[in-house]
Amino acid sequence: MASLFNIVPIRTSLAMRDYAALEVQRTHAVPLLDSLQRPLRDLRISVTDRCNLRCTYCMPRAVFDAHHEFLPRSELLSFEEIERLAKLFIPLGVQKIRLTGGEPLLRRGIERLVERIAQLTTIEGKPVEIALTTNGVALAQKAKSLKDAGLARITVSLDGLSNETFRRMSDSDESVNTVLDGIAAAQRVGLHPVKVNMVVQRGVNEHEIVAMAEHFRHSGIVLRFIEYMDVGSSNAWQLNEVVTAREILQRIASHYPLCVADADYTGEVAARWQYLDGGGEIGVIASVTQTFCHDCTRARLATDGKLYTCLFASNALDLREPLRLGMSDAVLTNIIADKWGRREDRYSELRNTQSNSGKRIEMSYIGG
Ligand code: SAM
Ligand code: SF4
Ligand code: SF4
Repeated sequence: MASLFNIVPIRTSLAMRDYAALEVQRTHAVPLLDSLQRPLRDLRISVTDRCNLRCTYCMPRAVFDAHHEFLPRSELLSFEEIERLAKLFIPLGVQKIRLTGGEPLLRRGIERLVERIAQLTTIEGKPVEIALTTNGVALAQKAKSLKDAGLARITVSLDGLSNETFRRMSDSDESVNTVLDGIAAAQRVGLHPVKVNMVVQRGVNEHEIVAMAEHFRHSGIVLRFIEYMDVGSSNAWQLNEVVTAREILQRIASHYPLCVADADYTGEVAARWQYLDGGGEIGVIASVTQTFCHDCTRARLATDGKLYTCLFASNALDLREPLRLGMSDAVLTNIIADKWGRREDRYSELRNTQSNSGKRIEMSYIGG
């Protein structure tokens, strides 16, 4: 992947007066790789840190209660600011942009942001692939307007088919049918393939693995099982709560035999499997037991404009301040490129050998 910028090393923490010194020279194309030779391909943008559910593994109610202080509106990036930053990531190699949160469908006028991002093209002149991850609660109402705005793909999170499991895990009174209606609406308007994400937690929803597989077979929907991760600082994660990808596959294959399918592209996080009887495809995301940091090409722009280069990072680069100070595109591009160039993150690979001592950011804020 080629960048049009000659990257000038800068300090990680910048005083305001330093920004002015960061104009970059446009010279020749150089690949923008991090320190482990990984390109920057995907940008995830969290558009809100709020959510209408309280999944126990993500926003436990004891922490995200009535007293929790969500970001005030003034601290959120505006759609104009998000669009401007998104445009700057493209020449650095970004091909895909995923809107997430918190719950992205809670951000008022999200379709207007989708519309803006859907106009962007990659350095090869192809449309940027724009996707969104949602809990699906508001999807039945929004699927058509999102599709009309230019959304290409959608992922819906659903952790069980019984209301009992769903309500327990999402700590809410919503019903599974609301989410299933959202999934059906997304399919109807042509947001396909719709993907469904199921986080599997030992003793909580593991008994729904086969039922979920059965439900989504032959539907054209790609069901993906995610190993429960130690992300954030509030879910009190324990290794023995992880149901491994291997075990998930074994349980499904004992009912519906599977074979490996090829990866769609380098850096795909889900290992793909197909039902031997032609029932379609599933994915497993083994973030804990079969790590994929070596291929990780994702950057995350948090709700308030901080750039994180790993889901488990405890520090970030603030892009909102230089943006609001009126820095030029060249300066902003340089600081983004510099941050990526220095990236060494591979938390999951090191999970068992060293601890990340800093307070980790929550997934609802950084964007899942
Ligand atoms: N609210 C939206 C949703 O739930 O799809 C988007 C944001 S959510 C943080 C994105 C994804 O992260 C969801 O699929 C969710 O299940 C997943 N997730 C959150 N916490 C997780 C954890 N501790 N381990 C694994 N996946 C997690
Ligand atoms: Fe909300 Fe998504 Fe987190 Fe559940 S996983 S609490 S829906 S942000
Ligand atoms: Fe990427 Fe960090 Fe996850 Fe590794 S731990 S795959 S570097 S986000």
